[in-house]
Amino acid sequence: MPRFSQKKVEEIKNAADIVDVISEFVSLHQAGKNMKGLCPFHNEKTPSFFVSKERQLFNCFGCGEKGNVFQFISKYKRVDYWDAVKFLADKYKIEPDFSEDIKKTDNTARLFRINELAKQFFSLQLLNLESGSEGLKYLKSRGFDEQTLKYFELGLAPKQGNLLWENLSKNFHDYELVELGLVGKNQSDYYDIFRNKIMFPIHDENGKTVGFSGRIFNNEENTAKYVNSAQSEVFTKSDILYNLDKAVPFINQNKRLVLMEGFFDVMSAYTAGVKEAVCSMGTALTLNHAKLIKKYTDTVVVCYDGDEAGVKAAYKAMVLLGQVGLDVKVALLPDKLDPDDYIKTKSKESFRNVLKNNLFDQHDFVYEIIVNKKDLTKPAEIEKAKLALFEYLDKAASSTIREIYLKKFSNDTKVNYEDILADYHNFQIDNARLNNIKNRQSAIVKAASQKRLTKKAVDSASKKIINYYALFEESRDLINSRLDNVRIDNNRFKELLMTLKALYRGNITINEMQIKKDFSDLTEEELNLFRNNSEIVYNETELIDCLETLMVNKYEYETNYYQEKLITEELSSEEEKVIFIRILELQQNIQTIRGKRNVKKTTSH
Ligand SMILES: [Zn+2]
Repeated sequence: MPRFSQKKVEEIKNAADIVDVISEFVSLHQAGKNMKGLCPFHNEKTPSFFVSKERQLFNCFGCGEKGNVFQFISKYKRVDYWDAVKFLADKYKIEPDFSEDIKKTDNTARLFRINELAKQFFSLQLLNLESGSEGLKYLKSRGFDEQTLKYFELGLAPKQGNLLWENLSKNFHDYELVELGLVGKNQSDYYDIFRNKIMFPIHDENGKTVGFSGRIFNNEENTAKYVNSAQSEVFTKSDILYNLDKAVPFINQNKRLVLMEGFFDVMSAYTAGVKEAVCSMGTALTLNHAKLIKKYTDTVVVCYDGDEAGVKAAYKAMVLLGQVGLDVKVALLPDKLDPDDYIKTKSKESFRNVLKNNLFDQHDFVYEIIVNKKDLTKPAEIEKAKLALFEYLDKAASSTIREIYLKKFSNDTKVNYEDILADYHNFQIDNARLNNIKNRQSAIVKAASQKRLTKKAVDSASKKIINYYALFEESRDLINSRLDNVRIDNNRFKELLMTLKALYRGNITINEMQIKKDFSDLTEEELNLFRNNSEIVYNETELIDCLETLMVNKYEYETNYYQEKLITEELSSEEEKVIFIRILELQQNIQTIRGKRNVKKTTSH
């Protein structure tokens, strides 16, 4: 984090004139000595927000917000004071007094600079050069005029091999261009990664160019529709919302953000006058995205494609947005249209209307999805819908909301409300029990993983068992009877033991000579397992101890397997329940063995 002395802060304050800074976000008009406009911090129709050039302060007589230029940025961009200072320092190109990691800052600054220059290069290709005419024609045919293309800073990557590299390599290292994913290298030559693509520059929330997304536009065969820049020090795909930087003033103005699925949707929305729209980068929404949105607004309108996939994605997004406490509404477009198509086939005005007057409440939307296409006269269908509804209400709704939707469901299905309520309470009890198991289970697993077996303990028990099997005939039936319930990690030991078992079953005498016939490559250490050098005697307690170690090893292995499954796979709650119960059994088995050993230890003392 760069640091600023008080002197520096004063310097920044002098450079960043408050009227200039605020004018970027609020439209201001002269009012006597001051400027005035509509307050960005509360809803109003007549301006009560004043900015004084003379005193370098802002003041709202409507809601009471006031302060200097740093306080304005901090409040408006929802960042802390020092981030506001840094934001304005960057903007007015004032260097911090010192940065803790000068090299890193330099490096990052260079990467941003490269992206910036690449953006200008692509833009020149699209708008000013003859070679861009095909791309330009394509974008215009999709209904985007030059003003819109300039606003979104769209560009074009030329067809030819390495024009971008030739341009940038004069001033930057090749490895920097490679790191940003703009340039690749084969045996001898550098070449441009993006070729013959419409280029969307990707900005972070502060407007810095972090990467690009290139889109095919002339139906090239066998290529992905979109190609993104490589993830780099300055670009993490899952943290970026496309167009957020430009949308911020409009999000503040309209007190909401519109979430869409694709770049062209966002651009079309802009042409229809909806400028507070953003989208994630060709991936599903993440919790990071939801948190980023929450920084700027409390209300989100989800406007995804009207087809089945879009509705599903909207449902998932809503659960995430709900998790961070956002108020969510859904705009459902008819006829399975995506927003881009809708705006083109209907009208801009009709799109604005959908976003204004035709919004689904989030619970209504989920309810529609749940009962949609189900035949609510059939008991099996009712059961299915009922369970889905219960799960949603239990997770996402207050008790008032629950009552409303359970009543609605009773109405729609003609099932007695009291019966549904009783079922819901049973569901809650079951769920609480399951949660209880989950909690207990995670406590047990946590405790168990702290004293997990070491590889050394497992290997040494495995060797001991081979040793017993080879030397003592009386051990063999006991070992055989337990083999299904043990786990030997080391494959060599496993082979040895299986060979011994086969010899025993075949009534073949087990000795060093015999084992050498099956294994020509035995080491001296392994051979020792078949010799009674130190004249050990048969000790059943010791043998059982070793077998139990390998049993615990098996249970731990299986526990691990199921835990992994819980984390990585999307399971139904029924499947989860089965797994939790299995893990619990496994842990109980481990506890039983450990408990028995503890008793042995204490009594032998
Ligand atoms: Zn105000």
